[in-house]
Amino acid sequence: MRLASAFFALVILPAAVAGQPGGGGGVTIQAGEECPAGMTEVRPRNCRPPTLPAPSILDYRPRSTLVTTAHLVPRSKFPSIDYHGHPTGLGSAEALERLADDLDRIGVRVMVVANNVSGDALRTQVALAQASPRLRDRLRFLTGIDFRDVGPGWAERAVAQLEADVATGAVGIGEIGKGLGLSTRKADGSRLQIDDPALDPVWQAAARLKLPVFIHTADPQEFWQPIDNTNERWLELALFPNRRYPPENNPSFEQLMTERDNMIGRNPCTTFVVAHMGWHANDLPRLARMMNAMPNMLVEVGAVLYDIGRQPRAAHDFFVRYQDRILFGKDSFQPEEYPYYWRVFETNDDYFDYYRDYHASWKLYGVGLPDEVLQNVYYRNALRITPGIPQIGWPDAIGAAPR
Ligand SMILES: [Zn+2]
Repeated sequence: MRLASAFFALVILPAAVAGQPGGGGGVTIQAGEECPAGMTEVRPRNCRPPTLPAPSILDYRPRSTLVTTAHLVPRSKFPSIDYHGHPTGLGSAEALERLADDLDRIGVRVMVVANNVSGDALRTQVALAQASPRLRDRLRFLTGIDFRDVGPGWAERAVAQLEADVATGAVGIGEIGKGLGLSTRKADGSRLQIDDPALDPVWQAAARLKLPVFIHTADPQEFWQPIDNTNERWLELALFPNRRYPPENNPSFEQLMTERDNMIGRNPCTTFVVAHMGWHANDLPRLARMMNAMPNMLVEVGAVLYDIGRQPRAAHDFFVRYQDRILFGKDSFQPEEYPYYWRVFETNDDYFDYYRDYHASWKLYGVGLPDEVLQNVYYRNALRITPGIPQIGWPDAIGAAPR
């Protein structure tokens, strides 16, 4: 009897849909098949089109009816270090005043400027910061390395420049950009691989000079995939066509990851801070294997909040387990975006908006990290690996009262 009525329902459904104004007929699919374009599965193996034209993904903005407690966090609970700083204005005393106001408002005590500059440009920026009473102790600078035209004599010149920049005040190296691996060419015209042995003298000099190496390699893996209806980053790739990496003229995502890991593994005395969690925040088991295999590697969380906040339980466990190896960093300097990070890290809030729709078509959840973990991620780890950051004035003891 049950079987018969189920059979009846399956047969009758398409006819009923076809009778509705504007509704096309439904179709039946086999187990494992997907509905045809423009339809959705309304009952097992039964697809139906909507009776109204579907809005585009740009225009569909459903209001959430979820009633739940929201805990907005305008400032980080503990003073923080932004290890991935790209401040917009360093060029004038007025710009530095604005930056100081912004940093105060969001709770960032120290910004590590990761603008990949060296030589005279670095000297100018350090001098400007030193002249600012409010930022003198709150801005620190990484130095840049010019990876173009690697060939005979390159490493000696690069190490000499590094030593000069340390004398200027550089406290680390970076941000080494994704151009290393993707586009930078050697003197002989070939692509410079991230694990090219010609670079090893520089990594070894970084270890000797106690300079952490902050490196961004590749981009989210979906940037290498076809731009179709299954691509998580469809909107971003459609908005920014230059973010696509067609396989015919780019090294693959896995090739770049392999080269990066070879380089880190081969230089165990050098401290590497892998930006954007290595683009593996969507695959924490993989990132955990890397952390276990390479104790000289730390990760930075900039611009991957959409992956942390969509898996609050797994992210919580990962952050607790690797709490000594994770640094806060933000990347693009938009002061109003920092509170999203604080809310994800510090609260247990459910289902809230992320700040950038084109990164993520989903909502975020709070990870609810314990204070000890927050302190490690916000400042202790950066202080430990970067002697050039002012070491005093931080909440010291484990479990110290916030601010
Ligand atoms: Zn950056």
